[in-house]
Amino acid sequence: MQLTKLIAASGNEGKIKEIVKIFKGVEIIPMHQAGFEGEIEENGQSFRENAYIKAKAVCDKLGLPALADDSGLCVDFLGGAPGIYSARFSGEGDAANRKLLLEKMHGVTDRRAHFECAVCLCLPDGRKLFGVGQTSGSILTEEHGKRGFGYDPLFFSDDLQKSFGEATAREKNRVSHRARALKDLMEKLKTF
Ligand code: IMP
Repeated sequence: MQLTKLIAASGNEGKIKEIVKIFKGVEIIPMHQAGFEGEIEENGQSFRENAYIKAKAVCDKLGLPALADDSGLCVDFLGGAPGIYSARFSGEGDAANRKLLLEKMHGVTDRRAHFECAVCLCLPDGRKLFGVGQTSGSILTEEHGKRGFGYDPLFFSDDLQKSFGEATAREKNRVSHRARALKDLMEKLKTF
């Protein structure tokens, strides 16, 4: 199917830029610009569910196709945590989240981890479509680089052979879980 206009169910500028790059030729409107106000409670049990909750809320309110994503860091040694709770891991923001992760991984040899992302497109006729993406790596023993956000300085990317905190936006977007999920959705959209 060919979309012409899409609401990005996100307030995050970085994410919106990434969506614009991948959905070339589609007009992307950030939800706040389109008149969506208020918070959406992310009370799902998976990345997929949370992405769906956000896209559905915006699509229902505005009556236009809406795209949302949900993502997080999954650490093998921690049984997949912090996962869907990545943003709320410490309850005190990004820097405290990284500090807590370093504490929990202190002296641990199995440092394998991956970022995961689910994106969901909801259409006004009730149909929905998902895309998923992952990027693998390991948790460093100290922060490397100051770029990016969230756990980036602690995540050593297998693809880039450096931390996401050291990578340029262009490098990260080439291999990121979010870019892969958006590309997955884009492919599925061709035959939707
Ligand atoms: P959300 O998808 O905006 O809800 O992001 C959830 C949380 O996962 C963020 O606050 C970050 O802590 C973490 N996260 C998700 N994607 C990334 C990334 O690309 N780099 C670093 N941290 C990320």
